[in-house]
Amino acid sequence: MIRYALVCDEAHEFESWFASAGAYDEQARRGFVTCPFCNSPRVAKAIMAPNVARRDREDSVTAPAPAAVQPSQGAPSQDMLLVDSKMAEVRAMVRALREKIMEHTTDVGAAFPEEARRIHDGDAEARPIRGQASWEEARALIEDGVEIMPIPPSPDERN
Ligand SMILES: [Zn+2]
Repeated sequence: MIRYALVCDEAHEFESWFASAGAYDEQARRGFVTCPFCNSPRVAKAIMAPNVARRDREDSVTAPAPAAVQPSQGAPSQDMLLVDSKMAEVRAMVRALREKIMEHTTDVGAAFPEEARRIHDGDAEARPIRGQASWEEARALIEDGVEIMPIPPSPDERN
């Protein structure tokens, strides 16, 4: 996973996770990377200096280790699957699932933790959303009974 600091043509700054640099390029090219503030698909990578990184977020392009190898942060382990390169069916299913998720959810970007909580609390219109959350934010949501789940990474992006 790789996190990019992005900026839209309205100069909104936000961050988004991608499975790889290639995944970002592909999604951006297809107009799937949109600004969480104005929904513009015209986004570009922003240069982010370390001193403008927000809150407890680490370095803008360094992905944290997966939860399973980061027990010191108290992140829950995730169920893992070793996908054999010959398991074409599994890869196709994951790809289809991802496409369905992307098709039926609204990308709220970095506003995800806040928006998920508002929907859970009935303070925002109930609707399926997707976006980014840190492990800490995700854990806090789960502890508060907000039903969220990780989006499976695309099986195609490590090739
Ligand atoms: Zn914008």
